[in-house]
Amino acid sequence: MNKKSQPLADELKPYLAPFRYDGTGEFHLKSHKTDAKGGLDKEKATRIIEANRKRLAEFQEKLYAQDRWSLLLIFQGMDAAGKDSAIKSVFEGVNPQGCEVTAFKVPSTKELDHDFLWRSMIALPERGRIGIFNRSYYEECLVVRVHSEILARQKIPQKLVTKDIWKERFEDISAVERYLSRNGTVILKFFLNVSKKEQRERFLERLEDPAKNWKFSLADIGERALWAKYQAAYQDMIHYTASRAAPWIVVPADHKWFARVVIGSTIVAALEQLDLHFPKVDKADRSEFKQVREALLAEEDGAKKKDG
Ligand code: ATP
Ligand code: MG
Repeated sequence: MNKKSQPLADELKPYLAPFRYDGTGEFHLKSHKTDAKGGLDKEKATRIIEANRKRLAEFQEKLYAQDRWSLLLIFQGMDAAGKDSAIKSVFEGVNPQGCEVTAFKVPSTKELDHDFLWRSMIALPERGRIGIFNRSYYEECLVVRVHSEILARQKIPQKLVTKDIWKERFEDISAVERYLSRNGTVILKFFLNVSKKEQRERFLERLEDPAKNWKFSLADIGERALWAKYQAAYQDMIHYTASRAAPWIVVPADHKWFARVVIGSTIVAALEQLDLHFPKVDKADRSEFKQVREALLAEEDGAKKKDG
């Protein structure tokens, strides 16, 4: 088969299937390797990353012009897992007008006055746009689960906070994602799966390189100490919220270049399935365009004659 007509999903298969979990079958985070390379080296990976950037830029133009689907990309991971740099790299060359990145930090007082999904709902992408969530409502089943004092600060009526709260959050999130997908939002969720050892290396780099100092926060060390609790929370979160409408992609993140191959490939393969195309101009418009074009050409001819 000639290369051009081969679907991206086939060409990129080695970087898609092994990492995707859509809720069918079992899920064990522990069996996912953090240092997988998919048989690539950095040089080969760079070529794939660049090809995917081009594909993404083309798909994004059509997504925007067609103005029907929207794409929601969620990024989760421990500190220094590479969320920021992956977003920066994968979206290089994509028209910023069609994308919006929202970084979710500790909720403000105003945000705490609402239900936990509120701030994310108002940040959802419009039709034709790509919305990128750097952290998301999933923090509500991660940091909030690991630190019970954060849950206590949320202003939920006491009676509603029971031992079932995490199960309920998984259910509510899944229901909202199903609703969004039924309304034309394509959802892809990336968990950047980094090892504790690699996080140590990256923290050391942040401490040693003055240009990276700002990225380090003392609080990060406190979260690192809770590594096992976070892993358990991620395991549960992925297990209970992965669905065909909103799959989780467990991205091996020890090698940043491989993480970018997996993320970019997943996005372009999903966009390819939408059969995006530029809106077709109807017959009446086409004949009007023809007349306008002729008038414009006549204008130029006229101007030339006058100049000459
Ligand atoms: P970097 O990797 O550069 O440190 P970051 O995403 O960690 O980026 P920070 O400014 O450090 O950005 O802050 C984000 C913090 O906000 C994280 O510790 C995260 O757990 C926390 N956070 C996000 N959402 C919530 C939430 N709903 N409730 C409580 N804490 C939250
Ligand atoms: Mg941080």
